[in-house]
This record gives sequence, C-alpha cells and structure tokens, in this order.
Amino acid sequence: MSTLLQSPIEYLKGVGPPKGELMRKELQVHTFGELLHYYPFRYVDRSIIHKIKELNPLTQYIQLKGKITGFRQLSMGKQKRLLATFKDDTGTVELIWFQSVDFILKTIQPNVELLVFGKPTIFNGEFNIAHPEVEIFTDELKVSGKGLQPVYSSSEKAKKKYLDSKGIVRLTHVLVAQLKEKDVPEFLPKAIVQQYRLCSRFEAMVQIHFPKSEALLHEAQRRLKFEELFLIQLQVLKVKSNRNEISKGFIFEKIDNLFDHFYHKQLKFELTGAQKRVLKEIRRDTLTGKQMNRLLQGDVGSGKTVVALLSMLMAIDNGFQACLMAPTEILANQHYESITEALRGMNVEVALLTGSIKGKARKFILENSAEGKIHILIGTHALIEDSVVFKNIGMVVIDEQHRFGVAQRAALWTKNEKPPHILVMTATPIPRTLAMTIYGDLDVSVIDELPPGRKPIRTVHRSDAERLRVFGFMQEEINKGRQIYIVYPLIEESEAMDLKHLMDGYESISRAFPKPKFQISIVHGRMRSADKDYEMQRFVKGETQIMVATTVIEVGVNVPNASVMIIENAERFGLSQLHQLRGRVGRGAEQSFCILMTGAKLSHDSKQRISIMCKTNDGFLIAEEDLKLRGPGDIQGTQQSGVVNLRLADLVHDANVLEAARTTAQNLLENDPSLSKPEHQQLLQFLKEETKEKIWGKIS
Ligand code: ADP
Ligand code: MG
Repeated sequence: MSTLLQSPIEYLKGVGPPKGELMRKELQVHTFGELLHYYPFRYVDRSIIHKIKELNPLTQYIQLKGKITGFRQLSMGKQKRLLATFKDDTGTVELIWFQSVDFILKTIQPNVELLVFGKPTIFNGEFNIAHPEVEIFTDELKVSGKGLQPVYSSSEKAKKKYLDSKGIVRLTHVLVAQLKEKDVPEFLPKAIVQQYRLCSRFEAMVQIHFPKSEALLHEAQRRLKFEELFLIQLQVLKVKSNRNEISKGFIFEKIDNLFDHFYHKQLKFELTGAQKRVLKEIRRDTLTGKQMNRLLQGDVGSGKTVVALLSMLMAIDNGFQACLMAPTEILANQHYESITEALRGMNVEVALLTGSIKGKARKFILENSAEGKIHILIGTHALIEDSVVFKNIGMVVIDEQHRFGVAQRAALWTKNEKPPHILVMTATPIPRTLAMTIYGDLDVSVIDELPPGRKPIRTVHRSDAERLRVFGFMQEEINKGRQIYIVYPLIEESEAMDLKHLMDGYESISRAFPKPKFQISIVHGRMRSADKDYEMQRFVKGETQIMVATTVIEVGVNVPNASVMIIENAERFGLSQLHQLRGRVGRGAEQSFCILMTGAKLSHDSKQRISIMCKTNDGFLIAEEDLKLRGPGDIQGTQQSGVVNLRLADLVHDANVLEAARTTAQNLLENDPSLSKPEHQQLLQFLKEETKEKIWGKIS
C-alpha cells in the first residue's frame, strides 16, 4: 500500500490530534486510506438553480439565486442571531445564522446577486435556511455552475466539532488533491478492465468524491462496485477450490441395493422433474471424488425430505452411515417418524437422538452409532456434541440450515477423518444475489416445482373486527373434516405479554369451539417437550381439529389434512416468517387458506408485507421483496457471515454487476487457480495485503 494512504489521519492538513481522535472514534477513519474509502452517500447537484416557490417539506438541499433585502439582528442574552430576508422573483425565504454573525455582516452586502445553498426547514409555518453557503454570483460561476457536491454521513458528536458533511468535504478535498496515480495503482488484470471498460482506480477515487459530471460519477461507481463484488467472489470461490483440493470426498459407487429398492418399490409417488434433477446433481457429486458441499433450496412443501433420504441411502449402500440434523425437536421427531415409515420393511436401522433422550436409551444409541450399527441417525443439535461418534459417516444432511450457525455446521464436518458429503437444505429461499455472496462457496441446487395436484393457497387479510366471520369460516372447514392452525407471535422481549395473548386467544377459541365436539391442541415454547410432543401428536393424528401455537411450529411440520393457517398479529412477523408459516398448509389435495389477522392501524411497511403475502405464493419472489424491504443485514443467516458489509454495491440493485463479477472471478480462477501468471501478480499482491486472509498464501 502506498505510504500516503497508510499515514495516520491526524497528519492530514486540517485534522490534527484532537480531530484525528474524533475521526477514529466516530467515523472509524484511522488513515488517509480509510478516508479515501469513506465514500459520499449521495450527491447534490449544484448546477441546478431552483426557485423559492419550489420549496416543499420534502426538499433536502436546494440552491437558490437572489438578493438579500435586509438584515435583522436579534440578541437573546449572550446569544446573537442574524436573520436575513432573501428574495428571488418567486418569493421570500429567511436565512439564519447563530454563529459568525459579524463575519457575515462584513462580507455580504444587501442587494447583490447571490447563490445560496442549504437545507430548508420549516419554523412556524415558514421556510428558513440555517447557515447556508452564500457566495456572490459572478459570471465565472454562471459558466461552470458548481456540479455535483458530495454529501458524507457523520455522527452527532462529530457534527458538533465541525466534522459534518461540509467538514469532511474539506478533508477529502485536501486528500484527493494530493492523490497520485501510484497511490491507488490498478490491480485488476488488463483483460478485465478492457472487457468491462472500467475506468482506472485512480480515476474512480477522484470521481467518487468530486465528480465532474453525472456520467463520470456513474463510471466511478460502476468500477468500484465491480471491484468490491469481484474481490468477494474471488475469496469465496478460492475457499471452495482450496477445499476441493485438500479434502478428497468419498465415492459412492453402488446404488443398486437400498437406493434402487426404495426408489422403484417403496416410493409411493413419482418424483417431480426438479427432484430428479437435484438427485442427479447429488449423484454426480458423490462420484467425482470431491467432497460435496451443496445447498438445496426448495420452497416449503417442495419435497426436500425425500431427496435427503435418497441421498442418505446412497451412502448406506456403500457401507457408510448418514445423519440428519433438524433445528427443533418437533421437526426431528417428525423426520424420524416419516423416515421410519418410508423405510418400513427395509433393512435400515434408523435412530433418533434429541436433548430429551437420556440415560440408558441415550447410551444405547451412542454405542450403536459408534459401532456403525445405526445407519441413519436423526436428531437436533444434540448430534454435534462430542459424545456422538460415528464409525464412518458418509453423508450429513442439515435441514432448515439458516437456523444453525456456521460453527455448528462446521462441528459436524469434523466428525470423521475424511469429511462426509454435506447437504444443507433451506426452505427460506435466499435471493440469488445473497446466495452467491453468503453461500458462494457452496454449490446450489434448487427445487423449483411443487408436487403435482397442489392448489395454490388463498391468502386474505382480515382485521380483528372481522373475527366472528373468521370463526364462522373455521366452523365450515372443520365440518368438512379439515384441521386449523392458529399462530401467535412470541418474541423474547415481550414474552410475558405474548404468552398472555396466546392463553387469552386459546380461551376464547375454546369458548367458540367447545368440547366435546371440538378438540384443541396447544403448543408453546414454555411447555415441557414431552407435553409439546403429546399435543403435537394429537393434532398429527387428527384427534384435535385446532392447533393453537407460537412459531415453534414454523418449520417443517407436515400435517396434510390441515388446510387453514390463521396468523394473529400478522403485522409483527417478517415476510419470510409469514411465508414459512403459510407453508404449513397447502400440503394436501384440498384448497387451503391463510388468514392474516391484524389490528386496524398498520404501518406502511406492514401494509406492504401483508399485501405481498396476499398477492403471491412464490417463495423466491417473497425473498426478493424481503431483501428490498429490509436490506440484507436483516435476512436470516446473513449476520454471521459478515460478507454483506458492502461499501458501495448493494445486493438489491446491483445484481447485474454481481453476476458479471462472479463469472469473471470464476473464469480467472479456472484459468489461473493460484494467480501465478505475470498478469495477475498485482491482483495477488493486493489480495494478500488487503484481505489478511491466509487463503492466498503468505505475504511474500
Ligand atoms: P419440504 O420441502 O417443505 O421439506 P416435504 O419434504 O416435507 O417438503 O414434502 C412435503 C410433502 O410432499 C410430503 O408429504 C411429501 O411426502 C410430499 N411429496 C414430496 N415429493 C412428492 C412428489 N414428488 N409427489 C407427491 N408428493 C410428494
Ligand atoms: Mg422440510
């Protein structure tokens, strides 16, 4: 890195030690280099001159041309204040100064043509502009205009010490004036720069702070976004190729025994085209000699479980064990039961291990797993514990992967000397751009087709006032023999209140649907797991018609006869959670319904979420909308990954740039995996220095 950019920030002209301290603490800017990367978050166009009559409450910054017709001074105790009446040919606005009053009076004369720039606010129904920038309108200004001005974000504390946007502009200006080509040398290979017609890094750095025109700003942004995403893609793809080099995977040659038998004799339905395609992808992976690391995305109800089961049978056919990890006990139980049922009559040993299996039963399972007598071990994160040992685990399936941290996943990796094949499944579709970034080191399979005969779920929005009508509808459905879920929010911060709502709801439903004609199950997180299980089982077996629950039933539960999902306080759930919950119905051949209950008053965002839910059943579309509404930071699973702290690029709007960056990185690594060709040396050097990651080898 250039010595200029490594210099501590206080050495920049105009900074000094106290301000340097403030910049480190408040803006996380320690060096010249970090200031250079402190990009403006927007720009104001000072080449446009507005009229006073255009002022409206939404105006951010505005540039006006006119004359001051008179000054007034007010003093309130020690506080002096200067007011000026500023006019153009369309109206009047007041300018205000709380500081530098004498200076202003000395330098600005009334009735001289001025350019005024600032942020209008409304006080007592009138617009005024506090501390505007004022300059005399000269012919020279008329010609050049002032172009795009950068606006930087700052903190309250920094603003008080003159480190507001304007203060930062002064500093970046000093820095950019000193900047030379050699301080920000090009590191992208020539071929790539040419292919995408990127401007140089130097040019980009200058233009991003002080753009000469809209077009040049756009070029600078395009270059820097590409660079940012390209570097991330190079990292994740390198991690992937390193892993492929280091870890050889098991080869599953034979599938002629259990797999074939199950597929041809035991399976009750024909796999969908998408299921077959994914299965082929997994089959191919397990024949290559590489370790599979595959993410399987499929909307709720798309039939991921049977794909997982067939993958596990591939392993068992070749003398290996398999395991399936689920995020909750309810789900682990359900997998255990459905898989035991599916494999009935076959010679496969299936066992269940959860936190509530203790004592002798636990010991028995642990022993049999270690001896290789258990073929498929299903469980919760209890599977990660050190006491769980396999003789030879060949296939690990992780269901609803977003609920597990990265560390938990890694723990299962290492249960063997040689790593097993890994299949992680998620029903929370991840927008493609996010998947490429967070899970960029995994191969991705998608089940984009639902089993035949499913009717799309009808979703409606009802307000609390319409509850009686909803009860009437529930009656009708129950009379047809259907079952109903009613879900209440439960979050830790308001747990006591939420639990009360749930219990109140349960009581009012019990009154509206009295025993013995109606039976109601209730499940929430505070119950003992044996009780939860019992209540759940009653619903699964059809002994109860209504299931009142918190979101513990969010993932995976499969009761095809349930056809109505009622979500209370639907405005409190996020989009992907609503979609998950809705996915609990629509699993049978009957028409299913989802009713979103809310109060009468809704925020703009809540309204939008509810309306998206009523419009579409497409999980991928919903995930995209979710990303747009909330930004990537809030999407489940992204926090741990850290890779979404992008400076400039954004995963919603820059999908095209990301695609290009990914393809380019892929081609580059294919053509020169260790970046050893001469034309890639600058890039390699940059990666080693900047990323501090060991994947590129030691710093030479
Ligand atoms: P998810 O992908 O949400 O985990 P499941 O694996 O639980 O979905 O499957 C949902 C339901 O669809 C199950 O009852 C399963 O038996 C059934 N199913 C899966 N694949 C098919 C298929 N190809 N044809 C018909 N039913 C299927
Ligand atoms: Mg599932």
